[in-house]
Amino acid sequence: MLTNEYLKRVYETVLTRNPGESEFHQAVLEVLESLEPVVENHPEYEKNGIMERFVEPERFIQFSVPWVDDNGRVRVNRGFRVQFNSAIGPYKGGLRFHPSVTASVIKFLGFEQTLKNSLTTLPMGGGKGGSDFDPKGKSDGEVMRFCQSFMNELYKHIGQFTDIPAGDIGVGAREVGYLFGQYKRLTGTFQGGTITGKGIPFGGSLARTQATGYGLCYFAEEALKCMRNDSFAGKIVVVSGSGNVATYAAEKCTQLGGKVVAMCDSNGYIYDANGVDLKKVMDIKQRRRARIKVYADEVPGSEYHEGCHGIWNVKCDIALPCATQNEMDLEGAKALIANGCMGVFEGANMPLTPDAIAAVQEAGLLYSPGKASNAGGVATSGLEMTQNSMRLSWSFEEVDQRLQGIMNNIFHAAYDASVEVGKPGDLMVGANVAGFLKVASAMLAQGVV
Ligand code: NDP
Repeated sequence: MLTNEYLKRVYETVLTRNPGESEFHQAVLEVLESLEPVVENHPEYEKNGIMERFVEPERFIQFSVPWVDDNGRVRVNRGFRVQFNSAIGPYKGGLRFHPSVTASVIKFLGFEQTLKNSLTTLPMGGGKGGSDFDPKGKSDGEVMRFCQSFMNELYKHIGQFTDIPAGDIGVGAREVGYLFGQYKRLTGTFQGGTITGKGIPFGGSLARTQATGYGLCYFAEEALKCMRNDSFAGKIVVVSGSGNVATYAAEKCTQLGGKVVAMCDSNGYIYDANGVDLKKVMDIKQRRRARIKVYADEVPGSEYHEGCHGIWNVKCDIALPCATQNEMDLEGAKALIANGCMGVFEGANMPLTPDAIAAVQEAGLLYSPGKASNAGGVATSGLEMTQNSMRLSWSFEEVDQRLQGIMNNIFHAAYDASVEVGKPGDLMVGANVAGFLKVASAMLAQGVV
């Protein structure tokens, strides 16, 4: 609940200007609530309209994406790019291809991205984009034609010094390859630093594929050590999702001594008391592009349950929600708490509903918001841009080591900020404050632009 009059007015304007955009409203409200103590200590923010400008995208682009399917039928999807805030660097953020993508989803993601990118300490502003196109069930040819049509418009708005897209839900190595190929063709130049998440042979960074999931576990390991004198070793872990973030989070926490017993896709979840066989999951999801249900058909002793919501009923010590926004509601949070879970670290963006966050925090669980604990992906995209500019490629170990350093720093920045505003250990408030202060000071320095 907002109490500061200035922030109340700012939030009212967000509601009026963006009617019905519930995900965007949710993300803004959470951040504004966290920033109340900071705004009260900085009257210059109101004088300079910092908060009004911070919640208003600098640019919002919507376009049609016509393409032809394998039967020769013309299809039309909707494409988006939000260039949210460029105070500390060029816009940077992924592209999401999923039927649930709307202007609201893209704005919430772009808004969160501004704070996340600030936390990485790298010079990147906030952006995000995508389409309501569903790559699931489409042939490679259809995906390629869609990506080419999408880029026919997007290329006008991006560039290594303006806006650098990457992957997100539904946009993996295949899609990034097609997008980059069309960008190269349209511009007649090879500008590696304009898109990240590229394949290794054409300027991608080693460890970028693993970075978000690995980074999440590095962050969680540091939080467990500093706040509980504990670690992943011997812990039972539930990871939702079975895409990029979930897969590599499961891999790293297993390497750190945890045991992953449940994972899901958008249809349902698997439970394997012996520990999920990740190679099998990767084979099913990445190579065969099949449903996770197949796992239970092929691994004796494992179970499949229809619907993903039930995954939070699986007893665990640590939960890593790595699928999508609002995937854990109050009921899910209560189930985790009742089963003695000690920590929830977000791999996805905004996977907990506000009442789920309140419940886990009230129950004393460790909790980290995605903008802090999943920042390893964009941080490593930043490292990919650095390597592209230097015309060099670092080894996997070098990138991974830098990633670990960045995640440790993000944890400490969020923790220290939580102490400074009188909410020690509240990593949500800490991350919002630490991310915001840097952006706000850059905005102040640059004048009203
Ligand atoms: P992927 O497309 O690789 O995987 C998404 C996974 O989540 C899939 O298993 C998918 O199931 C599942 N999923 C999608 N929608 C739903 C739903 N409504 N209910 C249940 N499960 C669902 O995406 P990523 O792993 O890249 O992204 C996952 C999350 O992490 C997103 O919130 C994204 O914004 C965030 N993120 C990603 C980063 C990255 O580097 N990729 C960086 C930072 C954050 P199915 O197979 O059925 O589609």
